[in-house]
Amino acid sequence: MRDVDTYAVVGHPIAHSKSPLIHAMFAESLGERLVYERILAPLDGFARTVQTFFAEGGRGLNVTVPFKLEAHALCEVRTERAIQAGAVNTLWMDHGRLCGDNTDGVGLVRDLRDNLGVTLREARVLLIGAGGAARGVLQPVLDEAPAMLVVVNRTRARAEELVASASGPLAQRCKASDFATLDGAFDLVINATSASLGGDIPPVPAAAFAPNAFVYDLMYADKPTPFLAHARSLGVTTCADGLGMLVEQAAEAYERWRGRRPHTRPVIERLRDALRREAVSAA
Ligand code: NAP
Repeated sequence: MRDVDTYAVVGHPIAHSKSPLIHAMFAESLGERLVYERILAPLDGFARTVQTFFAEGGRGLNVTVPFKLEAHALCEVRTERAIQAGAVNTLWMDHGRLCGDNTDGVGLVRDLRDNLGVTLREARVLLIGAGGAARGVLQPVLDEAPAMLVVVNRTRARAEELVASASGPLAQRCKASDFATLDGAFDLVINATSASLGGDIPPVPAAAFAPNAFVYDLMYADKPTPFLAHARSLGVTTCADGLGMLVEQAAEAYERWRGRRPHTRPVIERLRDALRREAVSAA
């Protein structure tokens, strides 16, 4: 057992994760003492890693690629939004039962709405991608009552599957598409693909960006991601990467575990500075 509350992020790979830095900043800002570690789980050893962590007195885990679906399957209790997403990124124990939440979607909505001042209500929204991240954000974005939410994906069947999972009174505002038949202009374009990781750009037609469109890439970097650079080259002037979402989803997890909500803006700013410094020292 440990004498300090201990948390960790578990993934494979994990060395790149900014979560320990973010949670250390949250704890410092609230005057709380905790330890937050990185755990590299073997690809075939996620369940064992989780079990050991909590058996040794760990208080909470964040889960990242590629274990979010496995975390969902492992939980005995899931929040509504974790069930909706079919993926879990936050774990804790309650009366001996493993509980899971998905804070990615609420993190994106908070960043867009509260930090960046983007209006989701009645906006025409394009969500690009139908992988794990898109699954986490679909319903929270839909719950903000956009005029329409079109999911476009390279593999159309996955977009259709994702749209079929939408629920509630606004579900019929959600439609699936492929890139070849994508039609219309959008006020908010969200890139939830991993294309930027390989330097690729999903083939969204230029006409999809409405005048004054806001463009958001879930990926973040020390410079504009390939997708944001592409959007700018088409005349888009308002855009953001996923650093704010990363901090917001972490704040939601922190509050879930510890009952206190940290201020996120100063952490986003400090993290942005740290990213720039890392880029300069690596140059
Ligand atoms: P994933 O489950 O592997 O899904 C990948 C998605 O990208 C699929 O829809 C895939 O299409 C599409 N894709 C991949 N390469 C493509 C290409 N060259 N052109 C067009 N589409 C392509 O990945 P994920 O977990 O959803 O993660 C997606 C991104 O979100 C990553 O960059 C991740 O870092 C980021 N993310 C950020 C945060 C944050 O807090 N900021 C949180 C979660 C995730 P197919 O279905 O056709 O394969």
